[in-house]
Amino acid sequence: MQLRPCSNCGKLFYSNTGAVRCSACVTTKFEEIKQLTKFFTYKQDATIQEAKEKLNIDEKNIISYLREEKIELPPLSEDGIECKRCGKIIKTGKYCNPCKAELINGFNAGIRKEEKQEVKAKMRFLDYDNSRFKRKIK
Ligand SMILES: [Zn+2]
Ligand SMILES: [Zn+2]
Repeated sequence: MQLRPCSNCGKLFYSNTGAVRCSACVTTKFEEIKQLTKFFTYKQDATIQEAKEKLNIDEKNIISYLREEKIELPPLSEDGIECKRCGKIIKTGKYCNPCKAELINGFNAGIRKEEKQEVKAKMRFLDYDNSRFKRKIK
């Protein structure tokens, strides 16, 4: 059990599961996401401003739900959020699809590099052993 401030309302609460929001805010968030999903499903050209006014939800919250991919702006909406990498307008998440693919590839390349380095390190170790062995023979 750890006492920490809620990331949303700032109220202190006991977090035993690593939660960053107090239970009241978790419930609110859940309700807001449900309302937004419904609104965006029925109104295919809804904007963030409309959702904010109709549902009385903070614009800041709507954008954070979009970034978290909890909700998605409808296809006909004029609104969008910017890809954090290239600035292209997207309907949900942090990155556009091409950037996402590149980031995943980059990530995999990073892993492959690490693996190679590990193999090299092992080979160096073997070389060292061999040379010691040779010296022993002489
Ligand atoms: Zn809270
Ligand atoms: Zn992008």
